[in-house]
Amino acid sequence: MADKKSGIETWNFVSSFDRDGQDSEITLPVILAFACSIGVVPFAIIRLMHAEYVIAFVDFLIIVGMLLLGTWVYRTRQVRFACIVMAVLCVVGICASAYVSGPRQIVWAYPAALAIFYLLRPGEAIAMVLAMVGILMPILLSESSSFQTASVLITLVLMAAFAYAFAAMNNRQRVLLMRLATKDPLTGVGNRRALDTKLADVVAARERSRSPASLIILDLDHFKAVNDTHGHAKGDEILQRIAEIVNLRIRVTDSLYRIGGEEFVVVAEHQDLDKAMHLAEQLRLLVEANELVDDRAVTISLGVAELADGEDGGAWLCRADEALYAAKRSGRNATVRAA
Ligand code: GH3
Ligand code: MG
Ligand code: MG
Repeated sequence: MADKKSGIETWNFVSSFDRDGQDSEITLPVILAFACSIGVVPFAIIRLMHAEYVIAFVDFLIIVGMLLLGTWVYRTRQVRFACIVMAVLCVVGICASAYVSGPRQIVWAYPAALAIFYLLRPGEAIAMVLAMVGILMPILLSESSSFQTASVLITLVLMAAFAYAFAAMNNRQRVLLMRLATKDPLTGVGNRRALDTKLADVVAARERSRSPASLIILDLDHFKAVNDTHGHAKGDEILQRIAEIVNLRIRVTDSLYRIGGEEFVVVAEHQDLDKAMHLAEQLRLLVEANELVDDRAVTISLGVAELADGEDGGAWLCRADEALYAAKRSGRNATVRAA
């Protein structure tokens, strides 16, 4: 359940892959807030014309509340909190207008239930819709016939069930999409996209905490020859084994990525250059000691770089790559620290 997200969070996750869609995370809540507020304006005017001042005041509160919320999201980008407030405002507005104007206002509970399933996570949405039905129950029981009460209840529950099923499907698709977008299919470790995201996160964290972080880039030595001798399928198996060997040795706070055919990167958070060099040497010795093919030792060359002040992820990776090529030039099966 902890992994379940709201429709808006899923949308934001998908949008994060769209490099041109930087503002998309706030677009939907802002549109929703302004649409709600504009949609209520005609009703507020009609209420005023009919001298129904109390309900006109409720409408006015919804209009102003949604406008303020939309503006606030636009400025602060606090999408999740705004979604919760918006869902609460929907329920309060509908219940207040139903109590003031009678059961005919209950038709608004339908679009509200749909919006709530979009704004909140599935479990939260169920709780919120149930709360709304509970608050509306006395009006339903007192002012409608029992047939009408049952119709409203059953249709609302049906709508909530469909919305829940849709939200659950959305979550499954998000998890699948996340796997496809961030994992290397051969080895199951992170891919280049996941590495780019990680590097950006580590660089941002470093600006806040000043904690060290290091990168180890490793490349298999003469892998073309291994493939040529033993076949591509055996080469694939070796890549999988290397990912396993590295994954078993690194700490839970380190992460592994495959960024090219036979190139991997370890991001070692909170590790300075000396500690990362030590880890890299251990990885080199472990790979060499594992007899991955019969006729020769499969070895790796490694470059290690610690994140420097003011450096971005690209420059950091570049320095580690230069160290890797120095290791290759030095004769391979070696670890070199970046300048
Ligand atoms: P070096 O020591 O200089 O790194 O030599 P190398 O042969 O490892 O490097 P080179 O860049 O010449 O060749 C890389 C080889 O890696 C070519 C290709 O056969 C192999 N390779 C790349 N991706 C895969 C893959 O997904 N599976 C397998 N089996 N082999 C791959
Ligand atoms: Mg190689
Ligand atoms: Mg290579």
